[in-house]
Amino acid sequence: MKHLITFAASFDASHQVGSEWPYCSEHVHGHEWGVYIDFHFDPMNPVYPSKDLDGLIGELAERHLNDMIRPASPTPLGLAGWLMERLLPLYKVDYVEVSYGGWGATVRADDVRRK
Ligand SMILES: [Zn+2]
Repeated sequence: MKHLITFAASFDASHQVGSEWPYCSEHVHGHEWGVYIDFHFDPMNPVYPSKDLDGLIGELAERHLNDMIRPASPTPLGLAGWLMERLLPLYKVDYVEVSYGGWGATVRADDVRRK
């Protein structure tokens, strides 16, 4: 039986995007970002990544994403990939979803491993 646990968090951060993400203005502005991360969870060997996740989210909160996740694009897709690349070596992450205001993107573990 496959077990999944979901980590959900939200934080405020600013970003500035160009034409690669046409759902925002081109000026610096902020959003409340939502992050959902699904992990495979082994009940026989439980690993709770909450401390690392709180740390990662804490690094981004109240900051300017363009500076924090460079060279990744400061979009939901770019941030999802940035989080996935940091978490995959440590945990059995299934997918990372990042969204704000109804717009979002999902990166699956297989998408990153194939690179
Ligand atoms: Zn925006």
